[in-house]
Amino acid sequence: MTDNIDTSAGPERAQLAALRARPHAEVLIIGGGINGIGTFRDLALQGVDVVLIERNDWSSGASAASSHMIHGGIRYLENGEFRLVKESVGERNGLLRIAPHYVKPLPTTIPIFSTFSGITTAPLRFLTHKQGRPKERGAALIKIGLSIYDSFSRGGGVVPRHRFVGRRRSLAALPKLNPDVKYTATYYDGSLVNPERLALDVLLDGIAAGGEKARAVNYTEAIGTADGKVRVRDNVSGDEFDISADVVVNATGPWTDLTNQALGAPTQFMGGTKGSHIVVDNPELLRACAGRELFFEHKDGRIVLVYPLHGKVIIGTTDLDQDMTKPVEITEDEIDYFFDLVRDVFPTIPVDRSQIVFRFVGVRPLPRHDDTQPGFVSRDYRIVDSPIPGLGATKVLSLVGGKWTTFRALGEQLSNAVLERLGRPRRFSTAGVPIGGGLDYPTTKAGKAQWVARHAASVGSERGHVLLNRYGTKAKDLIVAIGTDDAPLASLPEYSRGEIGYVARTEHVVHLIDVITRRTTIAFRGLITGAAARELADVVAGELGWDEDRKAQELQQAQAELQARHGVTIAVDAA
Ligand SMILES: Cc1cc2nc3c(=O)[nH]c(=O)nc-3n(C[C@H](O)[C@H](O)[C@H](O)COP(=O)(O)OP(=O)(O)OC[C@H]3O[C@@H](n4cnc5c(N)ncnc54)[C@H](O)[C@@H]3O)c2cc1C
Repeated sequence: MTDNIDTSAGPERAQLAALRARPHAEVLIIGGGINGIGTFRDLALQGVDVVLIERNDWSSGASAASSHMIHGGIRYLENGEFRLVKESVGERNGLLRIAPHYVKPLPTTIPIFSTFSGITTAPLRFLTHKQGRPKERGAALIKIGLSIYDSFSRGGGVVPRHRFVGRRRSLAALPKLNPDVKYTATYYDGSLVNPERLALDVLLDGIAAGGEKARAVNYTEAIGTADGKVRVRDNVSGDEFDISADVVVNATGPWTDLTNQALGAPTQFMGGTKGSHIVVDNPELLRACAGRELFFEHKDGRIVLVYPLHGKVIIGTTDLDQDMTKPVEITEDEIDYFFDLVRDVFPTIPVDRSQIVFRFVGVRPLPRHDDTQPGFVSRDYRIVDSPIPGLGATKVLSLVGGKWTTFRALGEQLSNAVLERLGRPRRFSTAGVPIGGGLDYPTTKAGKAQWVARHAASVGSERGHVLLNRYGTKAKDLIVAIGTDDAPLASLPEYSRGEIGYVARTEHVVHLIDVITRRTTIAFRGLITGAAARELADVVAGELGWDEDRKAQELQQAQAELQARHGVTIAVDAA
């Protein structure tokens, strides 16, 4: 083992140094997706000494691949998952209140092409172990589902109830919709406008709450066991060291079985399915959506979506069995499938490959499902005791499943299981506790203007609104920190050197790609170019002390990852 850690490079590596100096905690959580992060925050708030490690960047697994919906999961009703839907609707309502900067009301429209179809087969599918191809869901069935859905929201009072309209009014509101439509049903869910930043806010809240007792390090991987401890590797330096804990939580999502295997006790809990999305720059399609998500049944009976976000349109998704030992990739067939589904709902709007600005893919951490079709596998989660002989008396819990929407409730339940094993009481619930820049976030136009006048005078009103929108009320700290250093980047004028420098310094940035894809929406919105990557690399290098070699390596790595994971080509050689 070597000992060559550069602790000057931002708070993230300082956290690594703190972990190496005291490699013990009451609880070690492995996996920094939203569920590991949510559990970390909950435990930190209870005063538990907790460590979280993530082998890549925060929220770079399934948590970066979602359809960006904070939703009750209306379609899970036909699977009979009433508990999950009820909990999800409650969590959706809660997140609209505690994270209003990143979870916004999302009008969702279902175009319907028949009246009674599916009314008998949907309940039957639930009773017959979810077999067979779903029959088209008609208006009557959807009406029943939405009424149940609304009833779960009763008392929540956060979003309006659903409404049904006939063909004429549907086409008046959405003129480009397929004219065969008979009705549309519109209801509200939540739009997760920036998943990676919301997860980061949850993480930073946990660290702030726990201080020295809440340590979180990305790019650090659990690779095995040694003398009753978990062996980990710092994926930046390659150094290995051991961490001991009273309880270990395996929250590695779709990799849960592989992690248990690496720790020496293989399990067969998981049966993840792959889902892909593309993001297109198509102004006509964007206008046709009229600010709503279109959520509908494709020819094969699967529920798919066309969803406007950040001035672009997300099209998704697929649901295909995935072997986690193999690469997770988007295929050309999936892309053809996406174009096909757009043609079904907006038949006159042309879509093609030249409009794709970003692609993303991930694996849902679903339970093993043997004979059940992927679309009908339970989306509910469970917590399983999964002892690891190599860890001696350490208790080990594996998380199986868990959606984005339910991360707070899941974190609380997983944390309860941990507290029970530690013999410690819960201090309080995280329900209702604001998250990060959602604290005191103004949701009205007048409230925003007031906030900007009060906290953003130094950067001007227009820029103040941009920063409030981007960081929530945490923009206040950023504005103070950047002072007058807010000159726009030449290649990305809506970002400034001061802003990117602040992000690099304070938000656990380890690699350039973290900034391009997860701390900002630069790549998602198709704004990344070779020149922009070079300019961002200059700023980050200045903050993190990278030399020219490291900067060149980071540019190459960002280029390769953008190409392989997101189908985005940039030229990074010096201009
Ligand atoms: C296509 C798709 C669409 C979805 N749409 C929605 C949606 O609209 N709404 C919704 O609520 N949910 C949605 N989901 C589900 C949701 O995104 C996931 O269930 C959730 O993000 C899972 O979070 P997680 O923390 O459990 O797993 P992950 O986010 O995968 O986190 C696990 C982490 O563990 C890390 N890891 C693995 N092995 C190790 C190791 N040995 N050491 C350290 N770290 C390790 C990984 O790098 C990863 O970051 C969707 C999922 C997919 C794939």
